[in-house]
Amino acid sequence: MSKLIIANWKMNGSIEQIEHDLSIYAKSIYTNNPSVVLALPNIYLYIASQIKNKLGAKFSLAAQDVSEFANYGAYTGEVSATMLKGLGTKYLIIGHSERRTYLNETDDSLLNKIDNTLNEKITPIFCIGEPKDIRENAKYIDFLQNQLEILLKVKSSFDNLVIAYEPIWAIGTGVVPTSEQISEVLKLIKAFVQNYLPHAKITVLYGGSVSGVNASEILNLPEVNGVLVGGASLKPDNFISICTY
Ligand code: PEP
Repeated sequence: MSKLIIANWKMNGSIEQIEHDLSIYAKSIYTNNPSVVLALPNIYLYIASQIKNKLGAKFSLAAQDVSEFANYGAYTGEVSATMLKGLGTKYLIIGHSERRTYLNETDDSLLNKIDNTLNEKITPIFCIGEPKDIRENAKYIDFLQNQLEILLKVKSSFDNLVIAYEPIWAIGTGVVPTSEQISEVLKLIKAFVQNYLPHAKITVLYGGSVSGVNASEILNLPEVNGVLVGGASLKPDNFISICTY
């Protein structure tokens, strides 16, 4: 299977940029592929899915967040997994460290988000990652294990699951863990899933300062099933160079 390469645009981009970039991605053999996933701001998914259909493009679309409330209801400002499903959303990022930090996302709300996502047959991209001080205190294994344990409480049935290891100290900093550090954590994640969720087909990603310069080394590590890319996904040239790994 080809490796999953996910562009996380975060709160960036305009409708004009989406029209421009999606037409480039639809033409490139490296990006016109279901394993290339564009996580656009949720508000742009409708237009992105229309452009995708018009171009007959094969890349996939992802949402960056979902409501912890299900279906429809009196939850002003919220967008449910049911609504996102209707926009052609195939994947959904849950638990990104920026949301855990700035929006105070709790384990309970993350669990609801995962359940709602799975109920709509959208694949969650569940993000975990330790801050710098936890890495330096060598407590990161316990910390990450604890973040993974939320998956044991998921009520919905699931076969496919994507887990992204994104050390907070590597996000947007230009600092990238060594290959050994990445492999160690990805092996830990795979062992956890094999032990506790043996039915699940898991895809494990690395994220944090991935660029055209380091993508090939990271993506060629045997444990790495793909990458989550933030800053370097905002310019098509940079993102395509990652996809050519
Ligand atoms: C991210 O925030 O998911 C991310 C990987 O960001 P960056 O690539 O900019 O470090």
